[in-house]
Amino acid sequence: MSAMVWHCRDCGAEGRGTTEMHCVTCHRQFGSPHSCDRHQRAGRTTYVYDDEGHVLWDEQAPMLCSDPATLRFKDGSPKFMLEERQGREVWVARTLETQGA
Ligand SMILES: [Zn+2]
Ligand SMILES: [Zn+2]
Repeated sequence: MSAMVWHCRDCGAEGRGTTEMHCVTCHRQFGSPHSCDRHQRAGRTTYVYDDEGHVLWDEQAPMLCSDPATLRFKDGSPKFMLEERQGREVWVARTLETQGA
């Protein structure tokens, strides 16, 4: 086993290899699992109570996706770069260290 083939049932995207990450929520393609993590944040957990105020269950909210194009560092520089790889747009997370040294 050298390369993993992945396929998204929802949007039909497919590819090979484990370095890139396809977000199955917003169907954007990311340069790495780390890059993918950084466009998501956890939603709020909703608690469901019975009449006496006991928690019956909690509903874990799904992860929320942000548009990578709108995410910025505190200094205003973009957190993601959009690269084109083999005709596909791939979002790559930047780090502050790599910008304009
Ligand atoms: Zn997403
Ligand atoms: Zn997809």
